[in-house]
Amino acid sequence: MEQNAPSDLGTRPEAGSSRAIRADVAIVGGGVIGCALARELAGRGLEVVVIEREHPGAEASSAAAGLLAPQAEALRSSAFFELGLESRALHAAWAEELFAETGIAVGYRPCGILRCTFADGGRLWRDFGWQAGAGLPVAVEDGAAMAARTGGRVSGRIREGLFFRDEAIVDSARLTQALARSAERRGVRILSEVSARRFLLREHVCRGVETDRGPVEADQVVDAAGAWAGFDSGLPFEVPVHPVRGQMVELRLVGRDLPTVVQSDDVYLVPRPGGSVLAGATLERVGFRNEVTLRGVADLIAAAVALLPDLAEATFVRAWAGLRPATPDEWPILGPSPVAGLFLATGHYRNGILLAPITARLLADALTGSLSRDLAPFSIARFESRPAESLSTAPPQVFG
Ligand SMILES: Cc1cc2nc3c(=O)[nH]c(=O)nc-3n(C[C@H](O)[C@H](O)[C@H](O)COP(=O)(O)OP(=O)(O)OC[C@H]3O[C@@H](n4cnc5c(N)ncnc54)[C@H](O)[C@@H]3O)c2cc1C
Repeated sequence: MEQNAPSDLGTRPEAGSSRAIRADVAIVGGGVIGCALARELAGRGLEVVVIEREHPGAEASSAAAGLLAPQAEALRSSAFFELGLESRALHAAWAEELFAETGIAVGYRPCGILRCTFADGGRLWRDFGWQAGAGLPVAVEDGAAMAARTGGRVSGRIREGLFFRDEAIVDSARLTQALARSAERRGVRILSEVSARRFLLREHVCRGVETDRGPVEADQVVDAAGAWAGFDSGLPFEVPVHPVRGQMVELRLVGRDLPTVVQSDDVYLVPRPGGSVLAGATLERVGFRNEVTLRGVADLIAAAVALLPDLAEATFVRAWAGLRPATPDEWPILGPSPVAGLFLATGHYRNGILLAPITARLLADALTGSLSRDLAPFSIARFESRPAESLSTAPPQVFG
């Protein structure tokens, strides 16, 4: 049974305290990435402090839809696609471990994704059929199969559908809470309501973090501050991460639950226990404005009703927004930075929930000197030689 996620995570140091805290590793940011990495490192015997401005999961990680979906948008194979597949495969065991360690059910469900289009002409198969050749499960669905998968709900105007059987979902807020709680059980100290002001550099080496409550000294430091990863403008290099707003709407269905995720070119609909559906998400470059707008909500609802017409009878539950940490090429930045002792685990953009387990594993390998693979495709060094205007290679998207 689902249980309520705890809300009392994290310790708050006394105001005015300037005694330095010491740790093997200090992580800035208590989102899914910071918490997953802290837990992993503590499991390997390291002393870890997480510095979190608000509370664990306060930002994008709790706003996310929770899709674990490397396939449903992959137009070609790449290092990023492989990373996503590898990470998706880690989530089932993670969910079990986290439940055993914390009692928090993270809502992992390998329910698959039905990807649909209103367009004629077989575009979906042209875009995604290559995956079948690569041995991945992706199947063409006829109208009867699509109706069966959606409890008879899918629009009769849909012309083509593909089912990605191995795609899954998780409750991202619960996942982040479970990771934070598990990390604390493993000895991680989470400093909630503590802001990192800058990284402490001595002789070009990062030795810790200056916070609004005093210094945190550490042998190694990780910037996992999501969309705010560039918060220290005094660094001798730029962290190329910017915010992309995503709005989401929760609706309550009338009648039976939706058995699978259903996605069109304009919206995805994610089933939640108890008859809810999440409709997401807008993609907006509006800086750090984390607001819900009428246009965002109206567009999502219109796209949702076009895909599943009986959603017009659903009730509105709530709407929210979050800021995705985006990089110029939309791949994450993982591994060492140009400053010794400072590592980066950020820029996960639309896939931070999916990529959290593999990020934790790879960064922990890098920090403990046991990395056995090449992180070059995800290194910050990839941005050094490329002009800014040539960086965006991804096709334009209207939702994400
Ligand atoms: C609407 C929406 C839908 C999404 N859907 C999906 C999905 O279906 N699947 C998926 O895989 N991904 C999805 N994502 C993307 C995913 O949410 C992000 O990639 C992921 O949460 C990034 O995690 P993070 O820990 O890097 O960032 P965050 O969760 O934003 O965490 C960063 C943390 O750093 C803290 N912080 C920032 N600055 C400081 C500072 N100076 N000092 C201390 N703390 C600081 C913040 O308070 C925050 O808690 C979605 C995102 C949005 C917005």
